[in-house]
Amino acid sequence: MKDNNLNFDSKCVHSGIDEYEFGSVIPPIYQTSTFKFQSAQQGASLFAGEEKGYIYTRMLNPTVEALENCIAELEGGYKGLGCGSGMAAIHTTIASIVSAGDHVVCSNYVYGPTTTLMKSIFGKFGVQADFVDTSDINIVRASIRPDTKLVYLETPGNPTLVLSDISEISKIAHQHNCLVVVDNTFMSPALQQPLLMGADVVLHSLTKFLNGHADVVGGIIVVKDETAYTAFRKTLNQLGGVIDPFNSFLVHRGIKTLALRMERHCQSAQIIAEYLENHSMVEKVYFPGLKSNPQYQLGLKQHKGPGGMIAFELKGGLESGRVMMNSVKLCQLAVSLGGVESLIQHPASMTHYSMGKEARLAGGITDGLVRLSVGIENVNDIISDLETAFKAVKENRTKEKEFSV
Ligand SMILES: *Cc1c(COP(=O)(O)O)cnc(C)c1O
Repeated sequence: MKDNNLNFDSKCVHSGIDEYEFGSVIPPIYQTSTFKFQSAQQGASLFAGEEKGYIYTRMLNPTVEALENCIAELEGGYKGLGCGSGMAAIHTTIASIVSAGDHVVCSNYVYGPTTTLMKSIFGKFGVQADFVDTSDINIVRASIRPDTKLVYLETPGNPTLVLSDISEISKIAHQHNCLVVVDNTFMSPALQQPLLMGADVVLHSLTKFLNGHADVVGGIIVVKDETAYTAFRKTLNQLGGVIDPFNSFLVHRGIKTLALRMERHCQSAQIIAEYLENHSMVEKVYFPGLKSNPQYQLGLKQHKGPGGMIAFELKGGLESGRVMMNSVKLCQLAVSLGGVESLIQHPASMTHYSMGKEARLAGGITDGLVRLSVGIENVNDIISDLETAFKAVKENRTKEKEFSV
């Protein structure tokens, strides 16, 4: 049901849902790889694009399309393209935009494998990328060259939650005929809609907040108009990194509670970030919702809530991080994020290991940094779990000191 007058939380429940056989309220799972033609002529006209319909699931599948329509509506875009993972969405997007010899301006604050993909795979095919501090628009402006085709952002950035100003950067990029792509995984459309702020393409790892239940790997791209959609669909069809019908069904189900979940993620993360900021074992907290955060005002302008991700620097660096992660019980030691369960991890040795130390430090990822994805458990339970772990860190540090005397 498409109804532009509905509020966002109602759209989460109804977007991408159509009329189905037997009055089914939920989109059926069309678990089929291919679709039968009524005649040779119909097959030919489907392939020629004279008739709209389904041919083969890599090209388009109704269950996948229902999800694509849902997210396109939530992002305020033209159409979505379901991908097999967030990385497939990123790969398909970049491959749709750049050619050999083109230049890309990429944020320093992106998911580790995104940096690696730009450098290793796209670098191999003659695409040059510069990684810059996109939290400073003057640096972005100075980094754009005559051959720049794409400005690639992730905001808040992974894992230090640095913000980049989507509308200002889009204005600058468009003056130079560059497209702006935003990885909106950390916010979800419930909190931030980059296309409405001037970005040209938005993408997500569906694996995270959109699905929200840590049981699917998937990705999505949302574009603004038919021209972009046709070009991106062609690339996706050729690269082949599509999502399958069953996973699409699960993500579409997860999205029904997106607005509710994001509300709780934001509330709890705010409480936990303030608790961490006042904690004697914590050196520094990275969270856009803290008034002490230098980008707090930009956050108010750009997103409806600070999200559920927090990064913090423990006193005692790497060793304290190790003890902390071995001491939590409710917060599970795992990478990924955006699920109903709280997850904790260590970026320098885990998600951002492949980048190398130099690139990590350029993105603010020190060895003592811990990343927390705040789940929807009762916030007091999360805090008491963290408190137990802090006690273990403290005891360990005391022991270390005695040892070194
Ligand atoms: C996880 C993640 C990705 C990659 O998504 P996958 O589904 O794991 O391929 C990309 N960007 C961000 C911000 C992520 O958190």
